[in-house]
Amino acid sequence: MKSELQESVEIHNRYAHHTPLSKTIGDGFLYATNPIFRRVRDMLVSQNYSFYNELSEYTANYFMTCLFQLDTILFEKKLFARHNFPALEKLIQKFPDKEIRLADVALLECYSTLLHESVHCICQQYFKWHGLELNSYQDKNQFLQEIFAAEALALSMEYLTCLPYSDSAERALVCMNALGNYRDTDQLSFEQLNLFVGPEEAELWLFRGYFAANYFYEASAAPPGFVNSLAKSKAGDPRFSSLVESVLNIGFRLNKPFRNSTARVFFKMIGVQGDLENALTFDLHEALADGSAVMCAAKDIFRSIIRSEKELYANGS
Ligand SMILES: [Zn+2]
Repeated sequence: MKSELQESVEIHNRYAHHTPLSKTIGDGFLYATNPIFRRVRDMLVSQNYSFYNELSEYTANYFMTCLFQLDTILFEKKLFARHNFPALEKLIQKFPDKEIRLADVALLECYSTLLHESVHCICQQYFKWHGLELNSYQDKNQFLQEIFAAEALALSMEYLTCLPYSDSAERALVCMNALGNYRDTDQLSFEQLNLFVGPEEAELWLFRGYFAANYFYEASAAPPGFVNSLAKSKAGDPRFSSLVESVLNIGFRLNKPFRNSTARVFFKMIGVQGDLENALTFDLHEALADGSAVMCAAKDIFRSIIRSEKELYANGS
C-alpha cells in the first residue's frame, strides 16, 4: 500500500508541468485545480513579477527572516520559489517502506510561501504603497490598517485555497502552500456560515478574524464583546452569532509565535516607535464595520481574485 507521502509525490508529478515551478511542492497541482491559486499567479505574471531560486545574499536573508524581505518582494517584484520537492523524492527513495506523512516533513519549515507573498503583492498594487516606511505616509492609521488588511487577505486566500480538498494526500500537498494550519472543524463552521449568509459575507468574516487575530496578537480567542459588537446587525439570532464567533476564531488559531513576531518585529521595522498598542490608535470596530474603507478594499480585492464564486465552490480537484 502506498504511503500518504508517496501519493502526494505522485499527485505533484502528475501536475508538475502546469507551471514552470515544477520543483516547488504542489505548485502545478494547485495551478491546475484551484481557481484562486491560478488567478493570483496569473495576476502576478501579468504584472511582471518574477520567480527565482538562485542562491544569493537575498535568498540567505529570506531563509533567515522572510518577514524583513517584504519590501524587496513588493518593490523589486521578485519572489523566491522554494525548490522543496527534490528533497521529498529523495526521502521516499531512502525510506521506501516508512510511513512518513507530508505534514511531518512540513514541520521542518519547508513551506512554499509564494501564495501568501503573492497576495501581499496584489495588495501593494491596490493600495499603491510607495514603500513600507510608516513616516512617509501622512495618514498613519490608514497605512497601518492597510498593512493589517494585506496580512488578513493573504491568510484568507490561503484558507480558501485549502478549502475544496478533502483527500488527505491532496490536502497535505495544498497545506504545504499555506502558512496556516487548518482543522476540519474550522472548515465546517466556515461552510455553515457560507450557507447562512452567502460566500461574499462569509469571506469577509474570515478576513475580520485574521485582521483581529493580528491586532489582538496575544489573545487565544476573539474577545466576546468584540464578537457581539461586530455581529450586532443580526444580534438576537444566536445561530448567526455563534457561527460568526467560530469563523472569527479561525484567525485566532494562527500560531502565536508567528503573530507575536509579526507584531513585535515587523511593525518596528516599518517605523512604529515604542509599544505597538500605543501606536494602534485606530478604532478596530470602526475599521471592521460594514462599509468602512478597509472593508471596501477587502471586498474589492476578494472580487478581483475570486472572479466566480460558482467556480470557487465547485470541487477544485
Ligand atoms: Zn504576510
